Amino acid sequence: MATNNTVYKCRECGATSYQRVIERALSGALLPTGQYRCTGCRNVFATVRAWWEPRRKTEWQSSVMPG
Ligand SMILES: [Zn+2]
Repeated sequence: MATNNTVYKCRECGATSYQRVIERALSGALLPTGQYRCTGCRNVFATVRAWWEPRRKTEWQSSVMPG
């Protein structure tokens, strides 16, 4: 088991590792799709950043100036 001290972890489940998504091409070769799958929750993310970056809440409402 690897003991890398990555600071990144899944925003969904907290897992600290991910895998590249590999799919079989028509030729039979296994090719990475460029996406990433969390080893914990198995969600697929388009980028590593999307995997670890917390979702932004848009509930913060800055004071809106009327008029
Ligand atoms: Zn996860």
